[in-house]
Amino acid sequence: MVCGHSIVLQGTCCQCGSAVMDESNKLIPFEFLAKGLKLSPQYVGFMKRHTMINTLKEKKKLHLVLNLHGTLYDYGRISAFSDREKHLVGEVDSRDDLWRITARSHQGLIKLRPFVAEFLREANKLFTLHAYSLSPSDHSDYMLKLLDPHQTYFGRRVICGRDTRDTWMKTLDLVLVDERVLVILDDQCSSWWADHTNHLLQIMTYRYFKRPTTSGSLFANLFNHVKRYLFGYDCDQLAPKSYSEEGTDESAEDGGLANALRFLRNLHQRFYDGEYKDVRMLLHAS
Ligand SMILES: [Zn+2]
Repeated sequence: MVCGHSIVLQGTCCQCGSAVMDESNKLIPFEFLAKGLKLSPQYVGFMKRHTMINTLKEKKKLHLVLNLHGTLYDYGRISAFSDREKHLVGEVDSRDDLWRITARSHQGLIKLRPFVAEFLREANKLFTLHAYSLSPSDHSDYMLKLLDPHQTYFGRRVICGRDTRDTWMKTLDLVLVDERVLVILDDQCSSWWADHTNHLLQIMTYRYFKRPTTSGSLFANLFNHVKRYLFGYDCDQLAPKSYSEEGTDESAEDGGLANALRFLRNLHQRFYDGEYKDVRMLLHAS
């Protein structure tokens, strides 16, 4: 019988021992599970079905794929801080929601979204959690050490841009779970291939730090210069104030993550009550 070379590690088929070149790029890389691991689409389909059976019968859980930046935290580069934000650098040691990191040789602050610890603890009781981030991997690594230091929540189910063939779009092909039991929580719909957005519970983006109004591009700078010259106003003055500048924050009890958790609890209950057999129907039920 001819081997289908379903599981290939470092160029060698794990079933028959043959060298596999994969010149037509048919195999799907799963670097986040093991270095050099590639699986055939057929084997990925088999694994997805197998995981669903296990999920439904044994664990009574569903699966939740979580974005990180913008959903669970915000990042601000210190060199871009406004005068009203600079005091935050001195508060890092006295606060448990603010962390200083060096990412791509830039100094920055990470601000955890209010309610994030409670959200992960409670969501983990009903869902198997997966992290999926296209942010710089040093952000993601740091965040996961903060949020999940003992790998209680995510285990090895962490997909980063560096692990994927496609570094600017997300795909559920890399999540080894049947799509009927899979929910995504992300603030960016446009990060996902259109086929997968019907799994999405979209959350408001968490923006703690002020965003520079000029993107740094020549065009943006020129555009702002023209507006300042012609109309006499400064773009920075028009930009809405951020939480960081106002000294406020999103509500923990009634903010994005608390509301998402309420929705997810309800969805889980309705799924196991037998109302629907596919989470997509629950996500889009009126
Ligand atoms: Zn083989």
